[in-house]
This record gives sequence, structure tokens and C-alpha cells, in this order.
Amino acid sequence: MNRVRCLVFNSALGPLDYRVPEGMVVEAGSVVVAPLGPRQIIAVVWDAGRLPGAEIPANKLRPLLSVLPVPPLPAPLRRLIEWTADYYLASLASVARMALSSNGALRGGSTVTEYRLTDTEPGRLTPQRAKAIEALDGQQATIRELAEIAGVSDAVLRGMVNAGLLEAVVVDSDRPYPPADPAFGVPDLSDDQTQVAARFVASVHAHEFQPYLLDGVTGSGKTETYFEAVAAAMEDGRQVLVLLPEIALTETFLKRFEARFGVTPVTWHSSLKSSERRRAWRAVAMGSAQVIVGARSALFLPFANLGLIIVDEAHEVSFKQDDGVRYNARDVAVMRARFESVPVILASATPALESLQMAESGRYERVILPSRFGGATMPDIQVVDLRIEQPERGHWIAPPLVKALKDRLEKGEQSLLFLNRRGYAPLTLCRTCGYRFQCPNCSAWLVEHRLSRRLACHHCGHEVPTPDACPECHEPDCLVACGPGVERIADEVAAILPEARVALVTSDTLTSPAKAAEFVEMASAKAIDVIVGTQLVTKGYHFPELTLVGVIDADMGLEGGDLRAAERTYQQVAQVAGRAGRGEKPGEVLIQTRHPEAPVIEALASGDRDAFYAAETDARRDAGAPPFGRWAAIIVSSEDEAEARDAARGIGGSAPHLADVMILGPAPAPLSLLRGRYRYRLLINARRSTELQRVIREWLDQLRFPPGVRVAVDIDPYSFV
Ligand code: ADP
Ligand code: ZN
Repeated sequence: MNRVRCLVFNSALGPLDYRVPEGMVVEAGSVVVAPLGPRQIIAVVWDAGRLPGAEIPANKLRPLLSVLPVPPLPAPLRRLIEWTADYYLASLASVARMALSSNGALRGGSTVTEYRLTDTEPGRLTPQRAKAIEALDGQQATIRELAEIAGVSDAVLRGMVNAGLLEAVVVDSDRPYPPADPAFGVPDLSDDQTQVAARFVASVHAHEFQPYLLDGVTGSGKTETYFEAVAAAMEDGRQVLVLLPEIALTETFLKRFEARFGVTPVTWHSSLKSSERRRAWRAVAMGSAQVIVGARSALFLPFANLGLIIVDEAHEVSFKQDDGVRYNARDVAVMRARFESVPVILASATPALESLQMAESGRYERVILPSRFGGATMPDIQVVDLRIEQPERGHWIAPPLVKALKDRLEKGEQSLLFLNRRGYAPLTLCRTCGYRFQCPNCSAWLVEHRLSRRLACHHCGHEVPTPDACPECHEPDCLVACGPGVERIADEVAAILPEARVALVTSDTLTSPAKAAEFVEMASAKAIDVIVGTQLVTKGYHFPELTLVGVIDADMGLEGGDLRAAERTYQQVAQVAGRAGRGEKPGEVLIQTRHPEAPVIEALASGDRDAFYAAETDARRDAGAPPFGRWAAIIVSSEDEAEARDAARGIGGSAPHLADVMILGPAPAPLSLLRGRYRYRLLINARRSTELQRVIREWLDQLRFPPGVRVAVDIDPYSFV
């Protein structure tokens, strides 16, 4: 065979055929350089017969130019790429690009030159150099990356190299990672944990596809337990992928991993430096990286020899990617495990209803850790009815919570207040003329961030300095903040408990792994009395002295009418409640609400998770919603409002008429303007048995849109804005 069909990274092109020149050896998965017109492109040789398209005659075939020095993409990954593209209606090219996620890695092993500060006494410094020296302490990276970290130009740093302030270090981009030791810190497992671990270990050794739903209450030792499966894979010489929902969580995870296995695992996420990416990618592909811990994008890494996948906090919504290829990493992880013939463990204290249903129907095996480790008890949960227990005017912490906070401070115990809203206030308006600050690019209010003195859009990142006067009526000092964000709650705590040490934990304050580590250290050392945080603090943390959790507004997530609203509220509140009383002292949770009679609040208060899930399951079944029916969304957008509307109407007007497919819309999206684009949505609801993807593909394939219109399909959507 000297003809091959290749996948190229241009969604507009489709697969291309090439001739394999004499002496070149390629196989399916080989990453090659191919000619395209006058250019050279990167392509992947694909399995014969799996990519559709007419064959071009042999005499028109152009020869491949070279094979890149990386292992061929393994067959299970090629099947995963095909499945993902097919299921999520994405182009093969866009999915394959997620697998070839380091350009540097494709060039083969080599060395990179990085720079670090020297011990040279700097003498008199320009402000730029002083700034760089301050920021670069302990850093080693390329000039470009250091410039980014220090916030100075490349030229400043090059000048510092010449002045002897920075020195070059040549590093081997393929230097191996230190090996993990499966027997390093073996814990004494409880009986429950032992049983569960034994199942996992047997499955790992069997090299068989088996999805597990690890359903264990907060603090039951889920991590400790699945670490035994990780150890088993290490013993077999196989690789492990651990997916975490948030980079901020990796810090605590890395510490625990190190305590168990003696070294930290290899990490993979979007803020890696390019040299780290390249090294990690190649180590994964060569099979030398034993354990990769990463965000969802790690799912498409080219593992040479995968033995186990773990999805921790598997219920988390952040596993769903909402731009580019709109995939759900939790579900794709299960498919990858299937193609790789390995077990996959979905761990959660509050599993997604979809996952529970899969267990119910026997497709996943549910394993349970029913109680907290080491005799810790579940916290006591109380509801605070805000209609009766009213906070003071302009305050958000009701008297019972104030009292509980004071009590903890006196006892020297820690408290955590949870409100899932960054910044100081969600809306700012002018007292005189009523002007409201709105994002120019989005249909959203600007959120005041008092710490950084800015008004910011949480959708597109647009920011302006907080003005002194109203931009409309020019009246000075007339702006009022409406509603609370975590910054405002932190201020309120400081006013109530002036002597308390308060830590604000949001993505605005924990901006780097180092900051996250610092927070964990301070909280563990009891240098913090009250933590005020967003969803970032709801999971993963284990502070034994934390005995009080206050939920500032349990109703917030229930607004908006999303079908998963109650489930999400349950998960979020149960998770944050799970931070309380993890040590020897019992925990207490106060949930502030205006709707104590809402089923989700009642379920939280009574701890009756099963009843809540049962009621939710019935509601979903009645609505034909997932997992009983299927949903898809079509999102149409354009910078031109009329163009977006017309395109959406065109799609609506040519909708197929099928008995078991219901189409809602088009209607303006709740976020009708996002990043300067006007948006319309259609929602499609179908029976499980419907081949929804085929229906949508055939429907949209016959339509043509103006170049400024974007049409995105979201299969199994999580976001409805
Ligand atoms: P979960 O992930 O279920 O919330 P964790 O795995 O974080 O629970 O465990 C809670 C705490 O109990 C952690 O500090 C963990 O180290 C500890 N722990 C759990 N199981 C064991 C064990 N068998 N031996 C020692 N410590 C354990
Ligand atoms: Zn915006």
C-alpha cells in the first residue's frame, strides 16, 4: 500500500490522499508532513476505509514529505476522535487538534533554553528591571514566558541577560519525570474502603472496560480509595489519567498524591508553559509519564499504555466545554475507557442524575462509601428563613449566622461563608438618575470589583475603572452597589468580627497554584478564622478545624428556570456543607433561604438525598429530559442582529417534522448579546431512541449561511443562556 488517506487540521478541507514515497514507513496514526498547494501541513495518517470521500487517481497523488518523530496516535485514541466528532457534530480536524495539543512535542526531543535570575548584585536598577527581579524570583522559563510572568517586554529581559542578571540554562525537553512508588505511603483502609478498593484493583488488573460510580459522602476517603487503583495500574506498568474539574484543585491533590506515592504527578492544563506542555505530551506518548492529572483537555492526550481513568468530582458542570468542540469530558472519559478497555471511576459525593441513572440501569457499577472516615460525623444542617430572621439593612448575614460566627471565633474554630458570586456587587447604579452600568459587548451588568477598583463583565472580560461620577448625569459620588458579592460579604464579616482574620477565596484571589498553596497552608495552620468564597471553596479542601459553614443565598441558583437548577443547588450546597466537621469536632451548616419549603432546601435540611433524587428523576422523566430524553441546542450568532435573526428563522423554518422530535424556538438567547455577537437559540428535544445527531446533521447540511453567521450545535447542553 503506497497510498494513504490523511486527516488534516483544516475543518474546511476534509481528508486528503497522499502517496507514501519509497523508503518511508507510515502506519495508521503516524503524524506526517504533507504538501498542500505551496505549503506544508501537518496531517495524521488514518485507518484505511474509515474516512469517507472519493479517491483521487494515483497519478495525481502528491508524496508525503516526512514522518514526524512522535509515536503514531494509538488506535483507541483514533476511535475516540472519530466518536467525539460524530457524537458532538464537530469536525474531525477540530477534535484531532485537541490530541496534538503541543506543537513543540511534534518536533521530537531536543533542548530548550530557559533563563533564571543569577546571584549577581544588581546595583542601580531601572524600574522595569526591578519589577522583573521581583517577579521572577524562583522562576525558570523561556524569555517569552518570563516576560509574561513579569509583565515586562522581551527586550528588557534580553538586556538583563546581557547585564548578567539572567542566565541561560539548557534543559533536555524529554528529561524523565521522577518515578512514583506505589508502595510509598500505603494507608490503612477502613473495611468499606478496603472492599471498594479491591473491586477497583481487580478491574485494573483485568484490563477490562468497566465504569464505576464511586458514590461516597464528603470525607469518606474517595481519593484514598481510588489511589489503590492508581497503585495497581502503576504496578502493571500502565498509565493513569485523573481528571479534575478545576486547576485550583490540583494543588491539594498534588500534595495528597505526593504523600501517597512519593512524587507529584505530571500535570496538564491550559496554563502550562510551552516547554512543560511539550515534555508532558511526549512523556504521555512515550509511556513514561505514569500519572497525568489534568483538566478536561488531558482527555485527548496520546497515552501509549493507559490502564485507568478517574474523573473526580464527576458531577461538576465545568467538565462540559462550552466553546469549540462542545463535549462533556465526563462522558467522553467513559468512551475513552471503552476504546482502551480499561476501568473508569467517576467519583462524587453528589453524582449527576445522569450518572445515577446509568448505575440504576446497570451500565455503571455503583460502589458506595456510606460514612466519613475516622469516625467524623456528617454536619448538622439548619435552615435560616430570611423572611423571619432578617439581616440588618444593607447586610446579608442573618442573626443566627452572625451568632454562630462569633461563637466559632471565641472557640478558635474556623468558619466558611459561601456565596457563588465574585466581586463586590452584581449591579451598580446611579442614585440620582438611575443609570445602570452595562457591558457594551454583552447583555449583562458590570460587576463591581472593589479590590481592583474596576467594573467587570463576567462574560467577556470587559473592564473599566470604577468612575467617581455617573457617566450619564455626571453627579459625583452617587453610585450605589446593589446586592452582594463575596467581597462585600468579607467586608461585612470584618465589620461584625473586627478581630477575625478573613480570607477571600475566588478566582480573582487564587490566581496561581502558588496562591492556592499559600491559602491551604494558612488555613491548615489556623492563620485564617473565616473563609469567604465562591464555588472554588466548595470542594476538595479538608480543614479539620473548620466547623461552621454558612450558605449566604441558597436560592441564587434556583432562579432562571434551568431544568438542572435544583440538582445543581443540591450539589453545590451539599458539597460546601461537606467542608464542615471533617475532623474530630462536629460541623454545623446554616443555609440562608427565602424558600425553606422548596423541595431542594427541605432535602438538604433533612439529608434525604435519595428522596430528592427520586423526585428530580420523576420530573425529568415527565419532561422527557436527559437522561430519559435527549436535548440539543442550536446557537446562531452574528455581529449583525438582523443577520443572526434571519439565519435562526431560516433554521427554524426548515426544521424537520418528525413525530418524536420537538423543536422550540428560535428565540433570542437569554444572553442575547455576548462578546459583541447577537445570539438566537433553538432547543431540540427528542426520544432517547432518536438518532438526533443524524437528524440535525441532515437538517443543517442543506442550509447555507452568510459568512458572518456562526451556527453552533450543543449536544446534551448544560448551559441554556
Ligand atoms: P472525600 O474525597 O471522600 O471527600 P477524602 O479522600 O478527602 O474524602 O478523605 C477525607 C480525609 O480523610 C482526608 O484527609 C484523608 O486523607 C483522610 N482519610 C481517608 N481515608 C483514610 C485512610 N484510610 N487512612 C488515613 N486517612 C484517611
Ligand atoms: Zn461583556
